[in-house]
Amino acid sequence: MPKLYKNVVLWDAERESASLCDVLTEGAEIAKIAPAGTLDGEAAFDGRGGTAMLPGFVNAHGHAAMTMLRGLGEELPLMEWLQKKIWPVENKLDAETAYIGAQLALMEMLSTGTTCFADMYFFMDSVAEAVLAGGMRAGLSRGIVPSQDGGRERLDENLKLARDYDGANGLIHVQLGPHAPYTVPTAFMTEIAAAAKENGLGVQLHWLETKSDWPLSDGSKTMNPEEYLEKTGMTGVKHLLLAHCVWMEKEKFPFYARPNITVAHNPKSNWKLGSGTAPVCAMAEAGIAVSLGTDGASSNNRLDMWDEMRFASLAQKGANLDPTLLSARDAFRMATVAGARALGFEKTGLLREGWTADFMLVDLDKPHYVGWDLENLPGCIVYAGSSADVKATVVAGETLYENGSFTRLDKEKITAQANAARKRLTSQA
Ligand SMILES: [Zn+2]
Repeated sequence: MPKLYKNVVLWDAERESASLCDVLTEGAEIAKIAPAGTLDGEAAFDGRGGTAMLPGFVNAHGHAAMTMLRGLGEELPLMEWLQKKIWPVENKLDAETAYIGAQLALMEMLSTGTTCFADMYFFMDSVAEAVLAGGMRAGLSRGIVPSQDGGRERLDENLKLARDYDGANGLIHVQLGPHAPYTVPTAFMTEIAAAAKENGLGVQLHWLETKSDWPLSDGSKTMNPEEYLEKTGMTGVKHLLLAHCVWMEKEKFPFYARPNITVAHNPKSNWKLGSGTAPVCAMAEAGIAVSLGTDGASSNNRLDMWDEMRFASLAQKGANLDPTLLSARDAFRMATVAGARALGFEKTGLLREGWTADFMLVDLDKPHYVGWDLENLPGCIVYAGSSADVKATVVAGETLYENGSFTRLDKEKITAQANAARKRLTSQA
């Protein structure tokens, strides 16, 4: 059914400035964008010149069901945190708790303007079902490490996920999700890359997150990180989404400047875990595609891309003593279209005719936006705006969140189920 949005202030990362528009969506797509007052018909929504229409955020790295683990073991070193606090509870997760955790994540993301997200975790059938029931867009991967006897079951599970869900409702793309070079032996990583190529799938991979990641990898004994990507075949996969990249060496940046490689920058997780600041402006300057993600809720602890985007921009300026770095436009590009491309959604992340109708409506009629105009809107959004300004979130033409309510998700029921599940997961018995 066509839907007309009148008098909205339209902007995306490829537009020089914002403009006052009428927008017609038809089904899952944007059918027409025209100057305000020129499209006839009854308005489904009238922005009255005080509502921004922006592409929805694409959260390019995370572990959605980790919402069930939020707040466990704060302020610990990464390995101690994982071993003592996270892994024991993760061992108790099951398909049902993963489904509830994914639904919690969906609510948090939709209410903060995110329309698409990357996920690497387990019980991914549950996550895929939650995504389809909730109506969001996602790039899903099964976190792969060898099974206890060294078997490849998790790779097979990931390939089955692809057979079952890749392309589902036009909303899901499946990638393979080898966890990291320090948890996946080199030979297995090579096998995973070959499977990705054979099946035409992209890959999500944790890459050089902490200083000790690479020295812990068995590949480090004979290769440097870039030789490893080359020799395992990872550089040849359809698309390689490298999460973190905090410890990538500057001299190696040109190696990563390829159309099939995207970095997923997770500045708040990296800071919270004391991992460091990824030099993403220098990466972008070297021609590397950089997207933005929140990482899981237990290491951020928010799935709020507004917060992430603002923090990313400020951290680059502060860490490099340079206020000109990571402009509002570049931060917004990282938070939207760059992630969509990395997940294989070629027509998502900008507001264009024929592109997916994935967007948020943002209330500009708030005290902290006084002074906004069509030219300065990007700065107002990135530096002054927050997720509290999101009025509605639309994915594939369907309104999934509006004025505090979800159209498909039952907030009270999911929250009650999540509270009960959390008690079960963290009880000692
Ligand atoms: Zn991660």
